[in-house]
Amino acid sequence: MLKYLTKILTYLTKILKGTIMLQLKHLKKSYHVGDTVTKALDDVSISFRKQEFVAILGPSGSGKTTMLNVIGGLDRYDEGDLVINGKSTKSFKDTDWDAYRNNSVGFVFQNYNLISHLSIINNVELGMNLSGVPAKERRQKAIDALIKVGLKDHIHKNPNQLSGGQMQRVAIARAIANDPDILLCDEPTGALDTETSEQIMQLIKELAEDRLVIMVTHNPELAQEFATRIVNFQDGKILNDSNPFDESDEVDNFQLKRTKMSYWNAIKLSFTNIMTKKGRTILTSFASSIGIISIAVVLSISNGFQQQINTTMSKALAKYPVAIAPTATDLTAASQRKQSTKNVKNHGYLTVEKDQNEQSAHVNKLSPSYVDYIKKLNPDYANNISYQRGVNLNLLGKVQGKVQRVQFSNSDPETSSSPTAMRSQALSNIGIGSSVFPTTLKKSNGSFLKENYQLLAGKWPTKATDLVLVTDNRNTVNINALKNLGFKVTNGKKFKFSTLIGQEFSLVSNNDYYQALPNEMYIPNKVSQKMYDRGDKLHLAAVIRPKNEDSMALLATGIAYSDRLSQKVITENKNSAIVKAQKASSTSVFTGQKLSATMKKSTLQALGATTIPTGIMIYPNDFDAKDKVLDYLDKWNKGKKKKDQIIYTDLSSAVTTMTGGLLGGITTVLVAFAAISLITSMIMIGILTYTSVIERTKEIGVLKALGARKKDITRVFDAETFILGGFAGIIGVVIGYLLTFPINSIIYKLTDLVGVAQLNPVHALILVIISTILTLLGGHLPARMAAKKDAAIALRSE
Ligand code: ADP
Ligand code: MG
Repeated sequence: MLKYLTKILTYLTKILKGTIMLQLKHLKKSYHVGDTVTKALDDVSISFRKQEFVAILGPSGSGKTTMLNVIGGLDRYDEGDLVINGKSTKSFKDTDWDAYRNNSVGFVFQNYNLISHLSIINNVELGMNLSGVPAKERRQKAIDALIKVGLKDHIHKNPNQLSGGQMQRVAIARAIANDPDILLCDEPTGALDTETSEQIMQLIKELAEDRLVIMVTHNPELAQEFATRIVNFQDGKILNDSNPFDESDEVDNFQLKRTKMSYWNAIKLSFTNIMTKKGRTILTSFASSIGIISIAVVLSISNGFQQQINTTMSKALAKYPVAIAPTATDLTAASQRKQSTKNVKNHGYLTVEKDQNEQSAHVNKLSPSYVDYIKKLNPDYANNISYQRGVNLNLLGKVQGKVQRVQFSNSDPETSSSPTAMRSQALSNIGIGSSVFPTTLKKSNGSFLKENYQLLAGKWPTKATDLVLVTDNRNTVNINALKNLGFKVTNGKKFKFSTLIGQEFSLVSNNDYYQALPNEMYIPNKVSQKMYDRGDKLHLAAVIRPKNEDSMALLATGIAYSDRLSQKVITENKNSAIVKAQKASSTSVFTGQKLSATMKKSTLQALGATTIPTGIMIYPNDFDAKDKVLDYLDKWNKGKKKKDQIIYTDLSSAVTTMTGGLLGGITTVLVAFAAISLITSMIMIGILTYTSVIERTKEIGVLKALGARKKDITRVFDAETFILGGFAGIIGVVIGYLLTFPINSIIYKLTDLVGVAQLNPVHALILVIISTILTLLGGHLPARMAAKKDAAIALRSE
């Protein structure tokens, strides 16, 4: 019982005496500069009440500021302890100090330390910004504080529009806005005249009514007039204390709320700073955007040229597919032999050698498995493939109701009705200008015909038995093509499409078409209605013409048909009597003449005996796809013996390597140069941030005094470089884009090419991002440096 009473009693006396706020216990702090050691605080022990107005007097250099900074957590003590509300700060971490400064301490300095690029209200709000007070509440508290210090009418002014006294009032408003328990003032009237000083002292006195105020001053009169306690300082020691307080009880614990500045606030702070030096910012951004400009220009030009090349290329590709011909030139063999022509001595003999072309000639033996391999080619790389089969079609047509032999050929019918001519016609189907159009693998990838031709009349072919009539760009067709179909033609005669579309032909099998003679020779049968009726009916489905000049050479004018039709003919005829007879004989079944191996082979092909094509043409979808196609073809040859390899001819390679390679090289060089200027501008931004850091040292100090963490300081500067980098990127991209116009007119004058330089929006975006990231990187190191700056030293700088 008694125990409790004494406890209550001591508690009551404590309240009467005033509880302790701060206790300095044997604090020591010295500065080391070179060999000299300055003892700024030399064993200082003093306690402050929760509510009093303490004036600290003392000569310059006696350690007053140092003590204030240590009390405010801006500077660290070397020895001793600082006890805040009964809690030792010995184990305080940086974040604890930050929180302490932000929540519990307000600083007022002699030189006000306002941030000049922020408005008065924003200056006052700064500390609350750091502690994450909601915007509305922040604004209200700031206004309240400004009213309290008597600046109601000046709220929207800038610091540089105020008098010294008014600026100090703003500084005081900033210090008290968050209602701190401790207000630390370092010579607050040092720069003010007597009258203003009195007013400020009055204000501070009022503020001291509900908090602890510790004020350093040079002016003993003011101290006497306003303060409730005067402490004299000398050489880092306390000389005397007018109202000492020796209670050493531990009292209530206090809690710290951690501070945190949001990225958004950091950006806002940096943005207002940047806006105060618009001219410099624009110049800086412009200078650092030069790298971006050059890359943008290089990219847009090379981009445009690449596009130009791609369109020409894809046209060229359509014209020049990758060809797998019956024979190919083995370039490796040819180049190998080119060497060793130098310094040949006279040995007294000579060597005979085959013709170079002959030596490097390679016979492609197409096998069923190779044909299957080609069939498995990814349609996304090459959607159109044409096969050369050399098969002849036995065709009948009706001319004015009368059945008659016809053929799909442009050769003169007067000379082409002989069997040899028929065979050579069949052979002419091989290669460019073939009348068999490529097979489209995947419909969704677009068909070869539809891509390169336009429909003049009829419908696109769908069935194997559908034929198309191909005209040239002037809608004309070789006169022989129609003559061979049985039409009555004279030079310049015009044909209505309606007379052509739907035209029927009969495709007759070998067994019906040929008859065997007793001497094992074969001749065509007499044509008859019966023969016509027994054949498969083909119909002319469409008249088409090339979309542009480049597709001219794809298909010869005249009738064209699908590979499916050729295959159909082969399936039907490969076991026909004439084929069997020709296979068994070494002489021609038509003429009885002796046939060479190749002649026999082509005759058999013409008769439809061979299922394997003699040649294959692959039409890559685009330029990049061509490489994939070639890779695929190369894969087949891997590990195979030379004679079993299939050697293709890339008909477009000459064009490709010349332009594509050259452009690629130039682009690389230019981009490299542009990248160098980008790096240069990054370094420049680094230097600029560094200057900015030096310049804003005081601001860093103020931010720290208000409780900013190292991170927050880094953020403020990172935000600045972020804005600068982004801005530089945007300027760069815009200027780069604008430059494409004069560049295009120059290119047009030089080459007749329209709109070559084009800035790809994706590139533009990437460039802005690159610029932002690079400048961020360049500025981050100085920003880190800024964050590490000692707050006390920062504030001493002026
Ligand atoms: P006051 O505020 O009483 O004039 P200070 O606390 O500013 O005194 O300084 C106390 C002593 O510490 C002085 O001798 C001063 O030169 C020295 N001092 C203060 N800051 C530094 C520093 N950053 N580096 C070295 N010496 C310092
Ligand atoms: Mg001082």
